[in-house]
Order: sequence, then C-alpha cells, then structure tokens
Amino acid sequence: MRAALPDEGRPWSELRAEMRELGSGDVAWREGKAAVYLFDAGDEVEAVQKEAYALFMSENGLGPSAFPSLRRMEADVVDFGLSLLGAPDGAVGNMTTGGTDSITMAMKAARDLARSEKKLAGPLNVVLPRSAHPAFDKAAALMEVEIRRTPLRDLLADADAMAAAADDRTIMIVGSAPCFPYGLIDPIEALSRLAVDRGLWLHVDACVGGYIAPFVRMNGADLPAFDFALPGVASMSADLHKYGYCAKGASTVFFRSEALRRHMEFVVSDWPGGRMATPTLAGTRPGGAIAAAWAVMRSLGVEGYRTKHAQVTGARERLEAGVRARGYEVLGRPQLGLVAFRKDGVDAVKLWKGLRARGWFSSLTTEPASLHLMLSPIHARVIDGYLEDVDRAEAELPRAGAGGTEPRYGG
Ligand SMILES: *Cc1c(COP(=O)(O)O)cnc(C)c1O
Repeated sequence: MRAALPDEGRPWSELRAEMRELGSGDVAWREGKAAVYLFDAGDEVEAVQKEAYALFMSENGLGPSAFPSLRRMEADVVDFGLSLLGAPDGAVGNMTTGGTDSITMAMKAARDLARSEKKLAGPLNVVLPRSAHPAFDKAAALMEVEIRRTPLRDLLADADAMAAAADDRTIMIVGSAPCFPYGLIDPIEALSRLAVDRGLWLHVDACVGGYIAPFVRMNGADLPAFDFALPGVASMSADLHKYGYCAKGASTVFFRSEALRRHMEFVVSDWPGGRMATPTLAGTRPGGAIAAAWAVMRSLGVEGYRTKHAQVTGARERLEAGVRARGYEVLGRPQLGLVAFRKDGVDAVKLWKGLRARGWFSSLTTEPASLHLMLSPIHARVIDGYLEDVDRAEAELPRAGAGGTEPRYGG
C-alpha cells in the first residue's frame, strides 16, 4: 500500500519521537559497531558539524554572489585541500556533493578537453585498475565512455597493463589513493610517468584517502607519493565527508591548472531563464555542507586531524595484529584506515553473518573473499570486543568453509 500524506499535520515532538524509534533499528554506529558508510570522530566534531550545518542550512551554494559567506568558505576549504595535496601554484578546485560528483566532473573535464583540444570524436575510453571505484563506471556510462579495467599486480594497479590498455582514444587513466576494496595506495609514481610519457590525463581518486593520508604521513608513516607532487597528476578527488570528518554532502575535486578545470563548467544560455553556469553536477548546493566542512576543518586544524587519524591507524594496527594472531591473512600492507583480511577454510560471508548477528556491520571484499573494515577514531575503543566476536563467530562456523552466497559490494 502506498503511504498517503496525512490530511492533518502532527506536532514535531511526536514526529521526533517516531524518528528516534525508527532509528533504533539501525546499526549501532554510536557504539562503534559500523565499519562502513560512516565516520565517527566523536561528539565534539559531531556538534560542530550539526551547528555549522544548521547555521547555513537554507543558504544555497548555487548563488555565490548572493552568499559571499559560502563563496568564502568554499574557497578556504578548497585552499586547505590544495595545500594538503601538494598542489602547485595555479592549481584550482571546487567543492562538490560527494565523491561520485567529483569523479564525474573530473571525467567530464577530461572528456571535453580531449574533444576540444585533441579533437577526439567518436568512442573514447578510460583505463583504470580493477580495484577502482564504481563511480567511474557510473560516470562513464552517463557519458558513453568505455571503461577498461586492467588486472592488478599484488592487489595494486599495474602500470604496464594500463599502458597496454591505453590508446589514442584514452581520455583518462586512474589510480586510487587508496582503493576501497583493499585500502592500498596504487603506485601513483609509475602511473604519473606513464601519464607524462604518453600525454595522458591521470586522475588520482583520493576520495577515501585525501583527508587522511597527508596527516598519516605527518605522523611518520612512510607513504608512497600519491598527490600533485607527481607531475603527471592532472586531477584528484577527495571526500570531506569521509576522513575529513565533515557532514555528508561534501567532497572536493582538484585540477593542476585552470586550463584543465575550464572544461568542467557547464553553461546554458539558450532558454528563457538567462545564462546558467554550474561548475559541478549539482544545481542547488547545500550551504550547510559547505559551512560544516569549513567549520570542522577549522576546528580540528592539523593537530586535530593528526590526533584523530592516529587513533584510526592505531586501531587498524591492533586489528591487524589481532587477526594475524588468529591465523588470518591481511591483504597487502594497508597504511591508512581500511583493512581486509581472510583465512583459508573460513567462509568470509558466513563469518560476516556471524558478526552481523552480534551487531557488527562492515563490508566484504570479494577478490579474494574477505572481511573489510573502514575504521574511525571510535573504533580505537572497540577493537578488543570485535576480536572476541570474531572468535565467537568463527567457532560457530562449520569446519572447512565452502558454499555460501555471493558477497555483495559494500555489505
Ligand atoms: C567513497 C568512494 C568514492 C565515491 O564517493 P561517494 O561520496 O560515495 O560518492 C569513490 N572512490 C573511492 C575510493 C571511495 O572510497
């Protein structure tokens, strides 16, 4: 039965209670039970998000001249991102509503540059490692661009395979920093060389890593180069609403130069409403998400991010040690907040279900079938309990794993 809009309104106090009740069936993320879909950096960060969002909730980023406040805040947030990601003078960027938006717009810019400056017409393609995010497939489907996924080498992008797959109709090659399924940073330096040698547009997808990796490096980790410090990197995506700990609806897309970004903007004049120019996919843009990003970044500062992210990497190290002690293999050498692990004879899907029954919610990596966690500062407090539940869930499994249903992407 289709729900009908009630004839009479109801008081907010009643509705609020009803909404709390609705939410009570959701995963208990405030207890640290969710390791996908959200990021919990604690009550103080949440309070800043909420109050800053509410202050500018009605304002619209579509109209920066009406809201110089939002223009200023967006410009600051973009500047913070550019400096964190080693961008040279002249590099530029925009806030978008999410990683999919950022990736779509980078691909649109690359496509339109290829069309206008390289005079490419007809079928075009994007070359990306098997582990790159499906947002590229979505963008490519929208723009009728062919997706060429290349095999991995040791779970990382293989620059040789990508070189072989790229041709004179390739508008973009992609590396991830890190990829979602394994949490590993692709060899961006090798991809940058390929991009420079062949004149290709390299996009680094740092959606999940862009606002954690720079601070993890400051904390002393030996991360490979992955950002604009490499000359072949033309564009990057980095999500504020992930490890930037900002409110949802906030990401950034960056370009090495205005000459590259120029092709992102979409302009229509041929209608009765006058010239309408939008830099990104959205029309109306939530002022709240822009304001919350500005406020959270300013309130944390470099020190705040370093502290929060140290809790994340500390939790990941303890989780890795704990699962290794139980005979599991960690996939590759993760250095940020994502980790995937598996064990011969343990069916990952069944283990996932056993953990789900105990309230834990994570995702599954499928190649090879593995548990997959995306950690937040809150997880520093719950790793021991999680490991105990891994023991309990594993003890319930039938010996020698086989069968099970297909794991789903993203849990
Ligand atoms: C989350 C993610 C995306 C997509 O971002 P959304 O904000 O969910 O649209 C793209 N790439 C990677 C590596 C991601 O983790």
